[in-house]
Parts: sequence; structure tokens; C-alpha cells
Amino acid sequence: MSIAIITRGKDLIPWVNALKAKRPTLDLRIYPDDTNREEIEFALAWNHPLGAFRKYPNLKCIASMGAGVDHILKDPDLPEAAIITRVTDQNLARDMAEFTVALVMNHVRGLSFYKRQEHKHLWKPKPYLNSSDITIGVMGIGVLGSYVATQLNILGFKVSGWARTTKEIEHIDVYVGQEELDAFLGTANILICLLPLTKETINILNKQTFRKLPEGAFIINVARGEHLVERDLIDFIDVGHLSGASLDVFREEPLPQNHPFWEHPYINITPHIASITNPATAVSQILENYDRLRNNEPLIGAVSLTKGY
Ligand code: NAP
Repeated sequence: MSIAIITRGKDLIPWVNALKAKRPTLDLRIYPDDTNREEIEFALAWNHPLGAFRKYPNLKCIASMGAGVDHILKDPDLPEAAIITRVTDQNLARDMAEFTVALVMNHVRGLSFYKRQEHKHLWKPKPYLNSSDITIGVMGIGVLGSYVATQLNILGFKVSGWARTTKEIEHIDVYVGQEELDAFLGTANILICLLPLTKETINILNKQTFRKLPEGAFIINVARGEHLVERDLIDFIDVGHLSGASLDVFREEPLPQNHPFWEHPYINITPHIASITNPATAVSQILENYDRLRNNEPLIGAVSLTKGY
């Protein structure tokens, strides 16, 4: 068996090096310069050209090079027989927690506020809340969200989570499904989106959602740009219902030069860097799945096509 890497615009050198370092004998092919595609049963993919998988008639597994699989599932021409997997590396959860803690603390201790004051040479302290007076709502309390929630709780924040199914996480109140969404939103002073992008979650950060948040709530989106209705965010910040947002992901990436987010004083932008897959560690899971596929064993991180994540 061989592995084909099928991507668009990704630097593949670290991936090739990591795979070769772990498995020097691996037969690695790179789309679109590969031949004999009928030999390929396992593909590694990120933002592939839509329809490319169909060129591999014997594909049995498509492994995402990151935690999300929306970039794979949006292909209307997916081979029905292929299992889709994603990376569930603990390093991703650690990096995501460090990043969201930084964004939360930046907001809570007013670092962006003081940066704006600094530009005007203003020395004007403002009162701040203690972490124990702030509730953080984590939308999507899966592999990343549950770790983020736990780390924020260790810092003293009250933390709640929202999921599709019931779960027990120590010190975290988990709300479940559409029925409990309003109750979840009603207490969230800071809302962190860590949902997968699916038919149910697209555009979920919209005016109906924002309206249900407490006055002055702050939005953090580190999931996918398509979760956010951009105009609704600007409107709700501009009328003062929301105090601002930190966004790491966008509907169009890179964020277009003329986008209003760039100039908005209460929106912080980062270029999709919350938690980047480290090839050196992720390839262990990928090669493990490659071996499992050959031995007809269940794969790690397999996603449900019905749920979409
Ligand atoms: P995950 O383990 O699959 O967790 C997803 C969570 O969302 C689960 O708790 C799930 O509920 C919940 N959920 C899904 N659909 C829902 C719905 N309709 N209503 C309520 N809850 C719903 O995913 P993950 O590994 O934590 O990753 C989350 C996302 O983060 C990824 O899909 C990716 O888009 C994004 N991400 C971003 C970056 C970055 O650098 N910005 C890096 C990595 C990942 P159940 O637990 O009940 O199933």
C-alpha cells in the first residue's frame, strides 16, 4: 500500500519529512504528479481540489491533516466506501487552550483597551472583574472544547459547555441540544465557538444567538469562519450589546484587504493560528491508521458522515 497526499497550497515538506522519518520505506505519492492511482487506498488531505478523490478508484480512507473534516465533507463527489478520519492529537487541545486563555485574559484584563489608550497617550485605569464573576460558555465541548473549558475553570472562571449529547465534565455545566441552547447562552459573558462546521452549526453565531447573550458579552471564534454571520456581529457590537470579538477564522482566508473587520476597533484578528497540526506528532496517528486499515482494524478518529463531524 501507498499513501497519496492530496492538498492545495499547503507546504508539504514538513509532512513528507515527518512521514519519512517515522517510516523510511513508505511509498509516498503527491497529487497531481502521481501515477497509477488505482494502487492508492489511503489519502492524506487538506483543502483538496474538489473531485480529486474520484480519481482514486480504490480509496478506503481519507485522513484529514487537521482536527476539522468540513474541507473534505464539502466535496459532493466523495467516494462512498472511504472512511474519513481526523487528527485527535493532544497537542492540538493544549495549543487551543493556551490560545483561548490568552484571548480571554486579553479581554478580561483590557489589554486591547489599553493598547487603544496607549495610541492616544491616555493614562486612565478602568475597573475589572474577577474571573469568578465571569461565566464562559464553550459551544462545542468535544476534544478541544472540553480541554479548553477545564483549563479556563482552573483559572477560576465559571465555565459551561454546549453539546449535542449529554456528558459529565468535572466543574463544567454541560447544556444539551437546541432545547437548552437559550439557557446556555443566557449566562455566557464570553462565548467561545469550538463547534465543527456542519449543516446544523453553519451561521450559528448570528443575531438570534447574540440577542440571547448577556449585555456586554464577548465573542471568540476559533472554529470556522462560516459559523459567524459577519454583518450581525458588527451590528451587535456597534449598538453596544456585544463588547467585541476575537476572531481567528474567517469565511474567506486570508481576510480580504478591504474587509470591515480590519478597521473595527473592537474586533481582534489573528490569521487562523489558534492550534496548528504539528506534522511531527500527527503522523504517528496517521501511520497507525494506515496500519490498522491494512489489518482491517477500526480506525482512530473516524468521523460520522451522518453527523458531519
Ligand atoms: P469534536 O471533538 O468533534 O467536538 C465537537 C463538539 O461540538 C462536540 O461536543 C459535539 O457534541 C458538539 N456539536 C457538534 N454539533 C453540534 C450541534 N449541532 N449542537 C450542539 N453541539 C454540537 O471537535 P474538536 O476536535 O473539538 O474540534 C472542533 C473544531 O475546532 C474543529 O471542527 C475545527 O473546525 C476547529 N479547529 C480550529 C482550529 C484553529 O486553529 N482555529 C484548530 C483545530 C480545530 P457531542 O459531544 O454531543 O458530539
